[in-house]
Amino acid sequence: MLRWFLALTVFVCASCLWAQAEESPQVAHARERLAKLRSLVEAGAAPRVQLDKAETALADAEDAEVLRKTAYSSDLTEAQTDDMMAAAQRRVDRRRQAVSEMRQLIQQGVASQLALTPVIEELDSARKEYDLAESRARLVRQMAEEARAEEALQAKLNQAPQDAPALADRYDGNGTFSMVDFARVESEFESHFGKPLPVSAMGDTAVHRSLGFDHRGRVDVALNPDAPEGHWLLELLVRDRIPYFAFRHAVPGKATGAHIHIGPMSTPYRLGG
Ligand SMILES: [Zn+2]
Repeated sequence: MLRWFLALTVFVCASCLWAQAEESPQVAHARERLAKLRSLVEAGAAPRVQLDKAETALADAEDAEVLRKTAYSSDLTEAQTDDMMAAAQRRVDRRRQAVSEMRQLIQQGVASQLALTPVIEELDSARKEYDLAESRARLVRQMAEEARAEEALQAKLNQAPQDAPALADRYDGNGTFSMVDFARVESEFESHFGKPLPVSAMGDTAVHRSLGFDHRGRVDVALNPDAPEGHWLLELLVRDRIPYFAFRHAVPGKATGAHIHIGPMSTPYRLGG
């Protein structure tokens, strides 16, 4: 039960973040500093190299902003994931460059060895940031693979229903799936296997919306229906007469997108309706 509320809270906060299009104070500060330096350089009162540094600082603050809005958000599309990874990579590259420049200065005797520690620490923290972004990206890609498997099934159900069973096993149960059902399934799984149910998509997500799916009140679980844990889950769902779709492959011959969708099939969003 708690997961539903948590997912909802995170989603609401993520929406607030996206709604706030204004710049962060760090970006605004870097932009002001760049403008000031530009007029100083034009007046011949500051060297050109300082302007380059200020431009890099602005680009870096903008990348930090992209990461703040994405790496900590639970609701990303694949396109936002690509932006997030590119920003994380640029932040690592800039710090790697700073370390190599500092090493040169030390070699030339212009800087002391002590000056190397802070730039190396900055590089380490950018690498950690990159790892966090990568793990978020992995989850979003997995969710998107699963959503595409559901999209392929829906297309089959509409155009060639006789081929649909090749994509997924369908169980209609009593036709309903509630938060109370989910809380019970989740806690039974956890007490049986001693680990949390690997939920990959909780209700509505940005990925599903981008594909035009209304996934509200549905849950995707990243378990292969043929593996023991997936098999156990399907038996539990049948016991409780909870509807599911068990996806073995996204596309026949491709080992991606295998998962268990709990609840009735998603319905397509109707624009304006
Ligand atoms: Zn689903």
